[in-house]
Amino acid sequence: MKIAILSRNPKLYSTRRLKEAGESLGHTVDIIDTMHCYMDITSSRPSVRYKGAPLPKYDAIIPRIGASVTFYGTAVVRQFEMMGTFSINESVAISRSRDKLRSLQLLSRKGIGLPRTGFAHHPDKISDLLKNVGGAPVVIKLLEGTQGIGVVLADTTKAAESIIEAFMGLKANILVQEYIKEAGGADIRCLVIGDKVVAAMKRQAAEGEFRSNLHRGGSAELVRLSPAERKTAIAAAKTMGLGMSGVDILRSKNGPVVMEVNSSPGLEGIELATGKDVASMIFSYIEKTAKQSSTRTKGK
Ligand code: ADP
Ligand code: GLU
Repeated sequence: MKIAILSRNPKLYSTRRLKEAGESLGHTVDIIDTMHCYMDITSSRPSVRYKGAPLPKYDAIIPRIGASVTFYGTAVVRQFEMMGTFSINESVAISRSRDKLRSLQLLSRKGIGLPRTGFAHHPDKISDLLKNVGGAPVVIKLLEGTQGIGVVLADTTKAAESIIEAFMGLKANILVQEYIKEAGGADIRCLVIGDKVVAAMKRQAAEGEFRSNLHRGGSAELVRLSPAERKTAIAAAKTMGLGMSGVDILRSKNGPVVMEVNSSPGLEGIELATGKDVASMIFSYIEKTAKQSSTRTKGK
């Protein structure tokens, strides 16, 4: 098959691994810089232009759209969908997963376990917002944050109130969440492809840190999932409509709770921790699933 990886950086581990895995399975794999794609959106025959010429027809694309370029990146993915190209993650699903509030609302509607969460922009009664999620300690998150930046643990009501006031001063949207203490600074990243968890790792926060992000100095190891955790991860991925995703779960005393669903999960940490060839599994899924013009949404 002829497959394009949409990525801004061919040197990234995930991008390199995907190219290598796809080629060793006999596919033609091109890396296309999403932000350098341009298009005539009014043409009756949609195409994507790149470096002065239209791109050839691809059987499938693997979008790796960074959070900071979601708006333009999803427009490029949508253009491929309009051309009938299969995308492992469709544009609407990527946009959906990038909006934390929308994601949590959708997951909640499906009855998927979540930490008790409130969201606010300018609450007049902060004490009520805190009471609603069970009171301090709470985790306060800037909606626009990634890689653990803008995620703060407030031990006391007083601390929580000052943090919320500070964020209000910045006119930011915030999430206030019950602190899952019993997770012990660990979370579980489930790599879901189609309706299967193909790899899972436990990330443990560094000493004195509650955020387990690898970017925040966390370490990762292979983990065995309980049936409930597996079920939760698959249901979360399905709710978001993503063909491939990273579902982050905390082990709470009430069972697994989902923190977020990532549409461009990194492959380095999980391949290293589990020894699994996730990149090849992505291509196997595409081989099985990609059909011409089988895009479900075409950007709708
Ligand atoms: P980001 O999207 O920036 O990575 P997350 O919401 O995933 O932010 O939070 C970063 C990390 O902080 C998580 O991986 C987890 O280890 C920890 N964390 C987040 N929310 C909670 C919570 N409600 N209870 C306990 N730990 C949490
Ligand atoms: N973008 C990375 C991922 O999706 C974040 C990894 C991390 O900081 O833990 O896996």
